[in-house]
Amino acid sequence: METVYDFFNHSISIRNQQIFLPILEEKQVELHIKREDEIHPFVSGNKFRKLKYNLQEAKNQGYKTLLTFGGAFSNHILATAVAGKILGFKTIGIIRGDELAKDLQQTILDNPTLQKAHENGMIFEFVSRESYRTKTSEYFLEQLSAKFGNFYLIPEGGTNELAIQGCKEILSSKDSIFNYICCAVGTGGTISGLINASENHQKVIGFPALKGDFLRSEIEKYTKKTNWSLLTNFHFGGYAKYNATLIRFINDFKNETKVLLDPIYTAKMIYGLLEIIKNDGFQKGSKILAIHTGGLQGIQGVNQKLHKNNEEIIH
Ligand SMILES: *Cc1c(COP(=O)(O)O)cnc(C)c1O
Repeated sequence: METVYDFFNHSISIRNQQIFLPILEEKQVELHIKREDEIHPFVSGNKFRKLKYNLQEAKNQGYKTLLTFGGAFSNHILATAVAGKILGFKTIGIIRGDELAKDLQQTILDNPTLQKAHENGMIFEFVSRESYRTKTSEYFLEQLSAKFGNFYLIPEGGTNELAIQGCKEILSSKDSIFNYICCAVGTGGTISGLINASENHQKVIGFPALKGDFLRSEIEKYTKKTNWSLLTNFHFGGYAKYNATLIRFINDFKNETKVLLDPIYTAKMIYGLLEIIKNDGFQKGSKILAIHTGGLQGIQGVNQKLHKNNEEIIH
């Protein structure tokens, strides 16, 4: 495994890349992308930020094992497996979908995310969708303790108070020149950190990658500030849903800017952002910082599906 940024080192600095596109010039709007995707290929972007203080806490409390939850293509599952390996933790992944347990070898062969997590020593426990839904219940957690002993629990998607503390570090004092900070939203942890780190003259805009109205109240659990909003029209049908338009957009954007986006989160944000810019949603002279939260490891799995269906893949 190649080296990763020191998880306990506070001062990692990530570049902001200015994006040049005709539409930005026409509307006189500046767009920069914070390349958090460059932190690490598998402990990427916000998943690194969310794990940082949790893993430090787990070490401080003397835990040897991390346990967390996720879907079969989850960026968080893989980030936990790889970060755990680097820092010497055992890792257990509770994966949604018990059908995946029928032929474990085939499952791992077919799924690049689980394959990489497995290579990094993660032990999987596949559970039915019904019991996955009860994963925060006392009964479910007791069963896990009986089976796996003592572990440090990281919630699904990695979001908790320590994760939000880590996500605050995405922004630096240099970023105060931006009027708008944009990010993709899943559980709301990342945007909560960004909101807490933002200055009052800045507005934080979230692009949910899934349907549902619960996100606003999730975010309100973690922040008292009000300089934020959610734009809920760019989920492309829901979580992990995408279509040919989005895939084509990813390939065009990569050709024009050299920035590769992931189809589950960051592409939906940048697509939405450019739509709003086209429709004069930002006044002239606006400076926008969009956070590339990573997730590029998921492209291989998406491409396998696209290829099977004879559709355009992500290059
Ligand atoms: C998990 C993830 C998100 C969502 O982050 P939340 O903190 O759950 O809102 C956004 N982008 C990428 C690439 C992710 O992997």
